Amino acid sequence: MNEELNISMDITSIMNNAVKLSAIDLNAKASANFAEKLAQTQATLTQAAAEHGANVTLACSLGAEDMVLAHLVNSLGLNVGIFVLETGKLHAQTLQLLEQLKASSQAPVTVYTPNTDAVVTFVKREGEEPMYKSIELRKACCQVRKMEPLGRALQGKTAWITGLRREQSGARADVPLVDTSEARVKFNPLADWTWGDVWHYIGTHHVAYNTLHDEFFPSIGCAPCTRAISLGEDFRAGRWWWENEAAKECGLHVKG
Ligand code: SF4
Repeated sequence: MNEELNISMDITSIMNNAVKLSAIDLNAKASANFAEKLAQTQATLTQAAAEHGANVTLACSLGAEDMVLAHLVNSLGLNVGIFVLETGKLHAQTLQLLEQLKASSQAPVTVYTPNTDAVVTFVKREGEEPMYKSIELRKACCQVRKMEPLGRALQGKTAWITGLRREQSGARADVPLVDTSEARVKFNPLADWTWGDVWHYIGTHHVAYNTLHDEFFPSIGCAPCTRAISLGEDFRAGRWWWENEAAKECGLHVKG
């Protein structure tokens, strides 16, 4: 019995003393042509600001890619506002990063929250966690908490900037650098960046990032709809993991 206790204490102490690797340690790996990619990204951001002035805005989910873009907008001194959708369901770590961003960003950061009456009515009718009941209810929740505030954030804007990358999912495999297929131009300056490029930039430039990334959350959304992923799982497997792959977009980047 005592021997068993000792073995279990040894394993616990090994686990506690093991060096914990950060998301930077685990992921940072620049592509061979990273310098070219970075120059192209900077040129795309500069182009967006030059062509659209105050009518372009950066959509910031506070994920790794968007923190890179916020850092670039600030380091380039661009007159581009940043907006964040605070759905009321974000993790504490994400809210903490939001405060950090607001405090450090020269570019203005505007936070959009859902309409309170709409949320109260929706929660009263469907409960606090309707997203697990059906895809329709999950989409209805996204509509109230994300899509309606997004509409306000983009009102009057002729263009927006996103952190979409081709590598993120099959649905994003063809993301262009500049998407002019809809009335509002979408700039995707990180379209051809790899996950390794993103973390190389974060590590090199000491960009603040969500500590959930250190807990194996590659893609971070609302708390009830995001989980950590395991080795070998798809990049977005942690988002709406109970649904099938085809349904996994919240509407923000779905073509109209
Ligand atoms: S991601 Fe989940 S909690 Fe967030 S708005 Fe969509 S369904 Fe609701």
